[in-house]
Amino acid sequence: MTDKKRRQLVTFMGASTVAIPVGALLSSMPSHADEAPMVDADSAGAKNWEYVVMSPDESKNCGNCALYQGDPSAKGGPCPLFPGSDVHVTAWCKAYAPKPS
Ligand code: SF4
Repeated sequence: MTDKKRRQLVTFMGASTVAIPVGALLSSMPSHADEAPMVDADSAGAKNWEYVVMSPDESKNCGNCALYQGDPSAKGGPCPLFPGSDVHVTAWCKAYAPKPS
């Protein structure tokens, strides 16, 4: 093996050991920031707020609540009552407050 080929082999092996962990790290990360898990309506926190996925009143839901921080046309979005999870845009809870018009 020539010195040039030995250097190429060492360079290739070094790059491979770096590329594999970075690739594994990237594949384990969510591809979009808006992929938070949806609130589990059966969780203690949701029950505390009487959260339901489908509002019993069409005119009052997370999509038009003052606390909702997502896009009203999306499936769901953040609410400060449920950090780390998204609420369904169709949902409702007892903290509902209409968005000021
Ligand atoms: S406070 Fe309740 S109704 Fe308002 S966005 Fe949050 S979960 Fe929905």
